[in-house]
Amino acid sequence: MVDCLGSRFAVDNQRLHEVLDKARDFALATGISMKSLQGEKGSVLAECAPFTLFPSVVPRTCFQQAVDCMQDFNRLIHKVAHDHNFLEKSLKNVLQVDDFTQGLWKIYTHVKEEGYTQPLSLGLFRNDFMLDVKDPDHVQPKQVEFNTIASSFAGLTTSTVLLHRFVLDMMGKQYDTEEVPDNDPALGLARGMVKAWELYGRKQAVLLFIVSEAERNIFDQRALEFKAYSLNHGVRVLRRTYLDIYNNASLTDDKRLMVDGDEVAVVYLRTGYEPDAFPTHKEWDARLKMERSLAIKCPSIQYQLAGTKKIQQELTLPGAVEQFITDPAAVKRIRATFVKLHSLDLGPDGDKGVEIGKTDPDMYVLKPQREGGGNNLYGKDISKFLEAHQKSEERNAYILMERIFPKSQKNYLLKPGIPFVLSDVISELGIYGVYIGSATEERMNTQCGHMLRTKVLGTDEGGICAGFAGLDTPFLVSTD
Ligand code: ADP
Ligand code: MG
Repeated sequence: MVDCLGSRFAVDNQRLHEVLDKARDFALATGISMKSLQGEKGSVLAECAPFTLFPSVVPRTCFQQAVDCMQDFNRLIHKVAHDHNFLEKSLKNVLQVDDFTQGLWKIYTHVKEEGYTQPLSLGLFRNDFMLDVKDPDHVQPKQVEFNTIASSFAGLTTSTVLLHRFVLDMMGKQYDTEEVPDNDPALGLARGMVKAWELYGRKQAVLLFIVSEAERNIFDQRALEFKAYSLNHGVRVLRRTYLDIYNNASLTDDKRLMVDGDEVAVVYLRTGYEPDAFPTHKEWDARLKMERSLAIKCPSIQYQLAGTKKIQQELTLPGAVEQFITDPAAVKRIRATFVKLHSLDLGPDGDKGVEIGKTDPDMYVLKPQREGGGNNLYGKDISKFLEAHQKSEERNAYILMERIFPKSQKNYLLKPGIPFVLSDVISELGIYGVYIGSATEERMNTQCGHMLRTKVLGTDEGGICAGFAGLDTPFLVSTD
């Protein structure tokens, strides 16, 4: 097995910087970029998104295992989202203490009681894994989390494979395309959007992207828009904030969502997974307005709730997956990716979780019901938190997750603020999928590509936007 590519290319400094210069320009030229915050008002400046210089080695069997369970997971999460009793039972203790989840739940209850106007939901999902090497003879992809809202980087990562093939070519490395597989998740996700738009059934209706005011990752979002347009020239995308929707959108009598005179077929949320997106009641009102409408939502409120960390923990309990998935082979594929997750709810079960976390904090990650990176606690901070909240309901908002330990390898990470040196790095593999369905019917269920991101060993968190990791490409190898 190739141990890693980074340390194999013994090159002098001058040659390395030549490759680096070209790689950086290749990245900018092909859109592996983010909007710069430096730009004057009215101008658009781009800078490279963080990336690794070389692809990172991933065992082919692990890669395939992660790919092979994607459609199972799409279906599982869709079914969970449509099971009111499961959602309520799983989230009830969180709801006692977590304002943000409460805000989502209120919207969910409102539309449920009113009656869903639109039976279909659109899921553009990303299932994240790390390859656990606790048992070195049995390296396995273990699930970090399942993203149901604003699954990002499908756009930029579509060009990353081209960048890394170019770098391998420059280094004179022979490879075949199966080792660095084709990858176009943006196209796959765009197919989902266009399919949802077609199912809505009005040619003049638009796709509505809900974005934040100062969005750095705009080119990633635009890639989806441009792919959707390439699939069907009738598709038009509007970009609006929650505040725009509060001020300028309305519902017709038959609950069609109208924005500045245009009817909306599909609402695609790229923000709204964190409390900061809802500074006032206006943003919440806007979310409710969209949720009540006939537009197909990505994600619908029930998809967002099904993507919480608490649901992830509850799904590991005996019989939980089996309640939704009857095919034993699919259950096995899903369960094989689970690590141990523990409830911390005030009460006897949660007490066990607290004890486990206090005894061995370095083997766990403590997670609140938040998305977007930078929210988890590790090591000593876990002990401190559990000591401080031993007798408090605050615990209910958190879950304890077994820590995954991936194997490190050598690579260069190009990222502002860190030195450009050969470093020990670890990676996280994301698999993209699309699901469209109602409570009773499946209309689309696909696996459509992957994303590898890599961070320097010793960094706990892993997001790219959050500033921890860089885009990478898997170089698939056989392990025997
Ligand atoms: P978020 O919703 O904020 O992205 P995640 O669950 O993905 O939350 O955690 C953020 C990051 O923390 C991950 O990208 C990963 O790098 C790291 N992480 C999360 N869970 C684990 C785990 N069980 N073991 C090791 N690292 C983890
Ligand atoms: Mg994550």
